[in-house]
Amino acid sequence: MDHEHVREVDPAVADALAGERDRQEQTLAMIASENHVSEAVLEAQGSVLTNKYAEGYPGSRYYAGCEYADEVEELAIERAKELWGAEHVNVQPHSGTQANQAVYYSVLEPGDKILSLELNHGGHLSHGHPANFTGQLYDVEQYEVDPESGYIDYEGLRDTAESFDPDIIVSGYSAYPRTVDWEEIQAAADAVDAYHLADIAHITGLVAAGVHPSPVGVADFVTGSTHKTIRAGRGGIVMCDAEFADDVDAAVFPGGQGGPLMHNVAGKAVGFKEALQPEFEEYARNVVDNAEVLAETLREHGLSLVSGGTDNHLVLADLRDSHPDLSGGEAEDALAAANIVLNGNTVPGETRSPFDPSGIRAGTAGLTTRGFDADAVEEVGELIYRVVDDVDSDDVIYEVGERVVELCEAHPLYE
Ligand SMILES: *Cc1c(COP(=O)(O)O)cnc(C)c1O
Repeated sequence: MDHEHVREVDPAVADALAGERDRQEQTLAMIASENHVSEAVLEAQGSVLTNKYAEGYPGSRYYAGCEYADEVEELAIERAKELWGAEHVNVQPHSGTQANQAVYYSVLEPGDKILSLELNHGGHLSHGHPANFTGQLYDVEQYEVDPESGYIDYEGLRDTAESFDPDIIVSGYSAYPRTVDWEEIQAAADAVDAYHLADIAHITGLVAAGVHPSPVGVADFVTGSTHKTIRAGRGGIVMCDAEFADDVDAAVFPGGQGGPLMHNVAGKAVGFKEALQPEFEEYARNVVDNAEVLAETLREHGLSLVSGGTDNHLVLADLRDSHPDLSGGEAEDALAAANIVLNGNTVPGETRSPFDPSGIRAGTAGLTTRGFDADAVEEVGELIYRVVDDVDSDDVIYEVGERVVELCEAHPLYE
């Protein structure tokens, strides 16, 4: 991976690519939405399929010469069906947001009503935030997590559904550390005759491996990303029952996108094949076990965790109890200086701004990919705490940063 051809044409970009590769090798990717794909997925994404127009779907394209594009997309679809058990799959969305866009576009009219989780409570921009098209095109109400427990307030959700009468209820979250009860949300949707979109962007891999319950067969629509807990390269996916297949396909193309990024579809096919191997289940289980170790370690040091812990790949620490003068942004900066890359994150009952929130969010999908076991993750938890507890100490940041590089060098990513 020395990008020799890029270097010949464009040394500036080659330098940036090499810098990014080194950054990934020498830092801990603990942003909960990030992971590391295999060289096989990288190769598929960097392939000649980037040259190919393939508007349409396998067997019915608007362009000639699509026989190999068809093969690749059919493989991606077949494998996705095997991984998640959906009746229909569309692998063309360029991102998770575009997968959601396709679902909304397939069943909603402008002005229709969306009921979704509040962003500060773990929701996502594409679930109706005012800065997103969803917040501008649709009428949005939000549900919340229980301020005491940090768990989804299912009762509040049902009440809001009754009074608001939404056309669609959105479940699935960006910063929610607990198991989601899909049936409970489906019941709320059924009670008001609303559709249910389960957006499993963060937990696509955990659901595929069976370490988180699946909404497939429960919710009407399931969307996901292909680059978070599954390692199939950047992109999105929509799954639904056969009855919605044509509408969803038409909403992806030509509704919301042009030609699919066939090189990314190839990456999805390869990453899905990897996820069908027995080792992937073990990987996903280790991701969850490692998150539990991380939660335990931070808790032992007195950090408050939203919901008290985790059932999935992420932990969300609310710094206000233990470190009232420290913002999530300040913690993020100090940790980044110590080679631990995670993000400041809003927390339920947020009292600071979204640009400098009160929490930090950390995930274990990336570390687990590079082979970190429970002991290594426990040490990482200790290192995180050392920095959080002493953000102004250059010595601590330096020492932790050096130790992180050692840990990274013991767990290399790419050859
Ligand atoms: C990450 C995420 C998405 C998808 O994001 P993209 O960046 O558009 O791929 C969608 N929904 C949720 C809940 C997410 O966390």
